[in-house]
Amino acid sequence: MEDSKEKNSWQEAGASEGYLYDFWKFLPLPLCYVNSLHFILDINEKLEQVFGYTQVEMAGEDIEKFFQENSSMEELKKEIVQKGSVKKEAIFLTKDKKEILVSLSAIARRDRQNYFNGYFLVIDRIHKNEEAYSPLELKEQIKEKTKELETKLTELRNSRLALLNMLEDAEESKKQVEEEKERTLSIVANFVDGLINFDMENKMVLINSEAEKIFSVKNQEVTGKSIAELAKIPNIKSLIEILSGPSKHVKIDEIFKKELKISEKLILEVSTIPIVKEGKQTGTLVILHDVTRGKLIEKMKTEFVSISAHQLRTPLSAIKWTIKMLIDGDLGEVNKGQEEFLEKIYVSNERMIALINDLLDVTRIEEGRYIYDLTQVSFIDLVQKMIDLYKNEFEKKEIKFGFKKPRAVPKLTVDVEKINLVLQNLFDNALKYTKKDGEVSVAIEHDKKKNEMVFSIKDTGIGIAKDQQDRIYTRFFRSGNALRMETEGSGLGLYIAKNIIEAHHGKVWFESEEGKGSTFNFSLPAK
Ligand code: ADP
Repeated sequence: MEDSKEKNSWQEAGASEGYLYDFWKFLPLPLCYVNSLHFILDINEKLEQVFGYTQVEMAGEDIEKFFQENSSMEELKKEIVQKGSVKKEAIFLTKDKKEILVSLSAIARRDRQNYFNGYFLVIDRIHKNEEAYSPLELKEQIKEKTKELETKLTELRNSRLALLNMLEDAEESKKQVEEEKERTLSIVANFVDGLINFDMENKMVLINSEAEKIFSVKNQEVTGKSIAELAKIPNIKSLIEILSGPSKHVKIDEIFKKELKISEKLILEVSTIPIVKEGKQTGTLVILHDVTRGKLIEKMKTEFVSISAHQLRTPLSAIKWTIKMLIDGDLGEVNKGQEEFLEKIYVSNERMIALINDLLDVTRIEEGRYIYDLTQVSFIDLVQKMIDLYKNEFEKKEIKFGFKKPRAVPKLTVDVEKINLVLQNLFDNALKYTKKDGEVSVAIEHDKKKNEMVFSIKDTGIGIAKDQQDRIYTRFFRSGNALRMETEGSGLGLYIAKNIIEAHHGKVWFESEEGKGSTFNFSLPAK
């Protein structure tokens, strides 16, 4: 019995050994067994496969031989004896001289008396990056990485702080912008003029209370609406019509100023200004300025001048004919001395009549009733007739006169009487402001490109100082040098001339240099 028991236990021991052997052999981790003197006793198949050595090549060799020098296998040898288990990273040297970073674990084995008698060494991780890293290098790298991370962290902290500050600033500016906006809105709301704002799609985005009052509309019924929609609202229709023009093209993008008569008691000056932000138009502002009072005063002034001029003209005409009769001896004989005085009175009276006529012309222009009687004429003939009238005058003053004209030009459709008035004013001025021995030349040109006739009269007269030139076409303006010359003049001639030419759709302009001379020009469309 005893015998068979012993046999059985022998059999069992044999079976376990086989099992262990198989386990050892097929264990999927590279593994070796090292004795207490750190010589390798056995390696498994996986180690052979991965690192290329055979059992024979490794067995009996010091474990240190298979690791890179700075892998500090010395330490492992000490620690395994003292602690019984070690985990570390090391660089394994394969048979084909590759250096592979591995994580390894070692576990000590002890006999029954607990004496250390060797250890298993398992390579439990082969790092993907097969390049060699010594633990020292690793430490350095870790140090560096830690440093990098720390700087990154500080940077992050700083950016966070900066971000917080920026947020605070943004909050502050937002507040400021809102305050600014509120201020602007309250200015707009309480502005004395009516204000309306259109966006780039021609939608009304804002209307202040003054504008609401003017057109008797409510904010809610007009804001957000396009010009086309607004044109259907009767109260505001008249404004939209002048903003969009007769073409019904709804874009308002030009600067303009127009008058809008809402009623006898309300006349507006409507101006539009493009709202530009960073060089780009974002909308249009319409300003409605009440000019009723100004218009009324102007009208009264014009009426006063008109009435006075008319009242003056009748007695002046009576004086003219009476003096004429005296000079002609119709009322009895007058002697030479008396005749001379009468001539002087006659000339002064004529000047007064001319001034009254100028004033009446101005009032007619201003009242918009400067009626034009259009006929087709040869412009050259018109100018020639004027030259014939003035020729003697130029000769008397010993002023050289020249006339340059094209051969054939198209006829013009003009109000002959008014164009004659323009020519007369320009000839008068050239004669008046050019001294003896000077030169005056008249030229007519046909600008075929623009199909217009260009008239110019050039003199070598007193000229006009640069700083006074921008006032030349305004009412009653007379330049300093003209006044000093003590020449007669009302300062109305050029104003009237400009109005007449512009009413014919022409243009006026001039060039002048003080002391050297002037050239006055106008153009008239040939159509
Ligand atoms: P006026 O009756 O004073 O000539 P105008 O309206 O014709 O009135 O001219 C206005 C002013 O322009 C003149 O007073 C003069 O100062 C200046 N002026 C007009 N034409 C000439 C010219 N040919 N040469 C120099 N100055 C001129």
